Order: sequence, then C-alpha cells, then structure tokens
Amino acid sequence: MKKIKNFYLIKNKSKIHFFRCNKCLVTSTRPRVTFKNGICTACLNFEERKKIDWNKRYKILKKLCDKFRGRKGEYDVVVPVGGGKDSSYVAWRLKHSLKMNPLCVFCEPPLMTKIGEENLKNFEKSGFDVLKIPHIESFKNLNKYYFEKYGLPQHVWLSAIKIAPLKIASIFNIKLIMWGEEGESMYGGLNKKRNNMLFNIKDIPAYCQNKTPLIIPKNLKSKESEFTNLVLKKNEFSKLKNLKMLHWSFFEKWDENKHMILAKKFCGLKDASVKEKNAINKHSHTDQKMFALHMYLAYLKYGFSRATSDTSIEIRHGRLTKNQAIKITKKYDHLFPKEYLKDYCRYFNISKKNFFSILLKHTNKNLFE
Ligand SMILES: [Zn+2]
Repeated sequence: MKKIKNFYLIKNKSKIHFFRCNKCLVTSTRPRVTFKNGICTACLNFEERKKIDWNKRYKILKKLCDKFRGRKGEYDVVVPVGGGKDSSYVAWRLKHSLKMNPLCVFCEPPLMTKIGEENLKNFEKSGFDVLKIPHIESFKNLNKYYFEKYGLPQHVWLSAIKIAPLKIASIFNIKLIMWGEEGESMYGGLNKKRNNMLFNIKDIPAYCQNKTPLIIPKNLKSKESEFTNLVLKKNEFSKLKNLKMLHWSFFEKWDENKHMILAKKFCGLKDASVKEKNAINKHSHTDQKMFALHMYLAYLKYGFSRATSDTSIEIRHGRLTKNQAIKITKKYDHLFPKEYLKDYCRYFNISKKNFFSILLKHTNKNLFE
C-alpha cells in the first residue's frame, strides 16, 4: 500500500508534473485530461452543462424515439447494461417513459460478485430482455496478457462492453444504441464529444481501450474466433454506418443519485453488504471484483484511484466540500483491495509473488518512492 510522494504537487521538469484541479481532486496525470487556469475539463464542463436547456434536449430525444420506435414486439434500441444503477435507469426510462422496446446487452465482467449476479437477475425480472456475453476462459487468458504487459486487468471486458453492443445491433438490425454517460468529457478526458449528440463509430476503439488497441497475441491466435465480440474489423465499420449511437447524458442531466433511487424502486437494485477496501461507498461498481484492481493500478500508474474520482463528482454536485473530499481520498485512495488477492491470483493463475511483481512493474517511479 504505497503512498504517493505528495498529495498535491510533484514537479519534476524532465519527467512529470503532478497537480490536482483547483476545484475538484482530478489529477494532471489522468489520461487525456486537460486544464484551463488550473481547472479540469470535468469541472468546466459541469458548469457549462448548467446552461443547457434540458427540456429542449429531451424533446429531441422524444422525436428520435418516435422515428425509431419499432412495431409491437420488435426491438428498437440496444442498451448496454451492467445491472447497476445507471444502465438500469436508462433502460427503464426508454421502456416506460419513451415506450421503446430495448434489447439489453450484458457483458459478464471478470470476477463477477454475488450481489452483481443478484442485481442482474432482479433487473431481468423487472421486465427486460437481456442478451448475455459470458466471460469465457479465452477472455481470462487475454486479460492476463494485458494485465502483465500493460497493467490493464480488465481490458478485454472494457473492449467487450463497447464492441459487443454494436455487433448485436447489427445482427438484430437495430438502428439505435443508447449508452449511459459520455464519461470522457464528464470525468476528465477527451473533450471534443461534450456537445455532440452523435458520436463517431471510429472514436470507440480509441477512447475505450485506453489507447491500447486490442490485438490478439500470437499464442492466442488459434482462439481468435472466440474474440469476435471484442474486435471490430475494418469491413464491419461500413455495415454499421447507419447506426445511431447516443448517450443518455446528452438528453437529460446526469445524476447518479436519481438513477439509484429509480433503480432501487423499480429494478430491484441492492447495495453491497460490505464496502470494498478502496471504495468510498457500497453502491458503485459492486458487480465485479476486478474494478477494484483496475483502479488500484490507476493509483500506481497515475497517483489517483476511486476516492479521487468519486469524491470529485460529489464536489461538483455540491454534496461534499473539498476538505471533506481530501480527507476521504487520503484515507482510501492508496488502499490495495487485499480482500480479493486470492481471487486475482486464481483468476490470472499466478502466484502472489508474480502478482505483486506485475504491480511493481507498472508502478510509476516518478510518483512513488
Ligand atoms: Zn476539476
């Protein structure tokens, strides 16, 4: 459980300049983030969104739904879901407020939790058709490769959740996909899509895969056919050109608390019974154990983890002061999710010693002693 050299500022001219946003706690090391007068794009965009006429945006969505709504019994929109608060909310609103008929696509995450399974079942029971992409053995092997080489323990899943919905839309001839939030500009990242209703299919591999395109290594080439839901081939782009890809956050003010209330009331969503070591609550990313490691690796590489991200959102919404957020972040951000150590070693089929040597290999020596 390494602690960063300095919570606020590390200046190292030749190598790194680590600082945090003046308003929230987002760090300068966050991939793709930019700053203006010391304020991160996530904060700037949050203020900008206050000026949006949300009624007008929702009317645009209604019109779109009128255009794409299918005949009775026909699926007319693909909704990628995880059984959590946000995707449940989006699917529910599409079905009940906008009278669409969603086909939900679920990609099983690595090391899914019991509460994750329960929430997904409850979501299905609340009246949704869910098409499931299982996390097969070959996905584990590929994840192991990306974990060892790039420190990306859930790279395969991150690819699947972006690519599989496109493939399913194509197979079922559905012309609309509704994702949840446009996370890049909302949390600090690529900023060009912040006011775009539609986003380009060619943008997907670049931003969802942490700029590490998913390539099947030689030793797994024989299993290539099993990875069809993870990779979009060039000739498939043209087939998908009529597909409209949208984010719900373009049409309605994104508020996770509101989503949680609806998902608990109508979709049977439940909180986890125990808080994960490096989490700050019992309700975010409870569906899988790998996310905790993914964020711990973000800490080792960039000096921030879940507490930085989650408290920054709370600061923007005015639900935490900056001082409260700093306290929480100092308490949790550096924690390794040791409750899952055995699960990680079993999943990757490696010893504890090997596991920690991989973590060490991906630790940013400019940020840590
Ligand atoms: Zn900020």
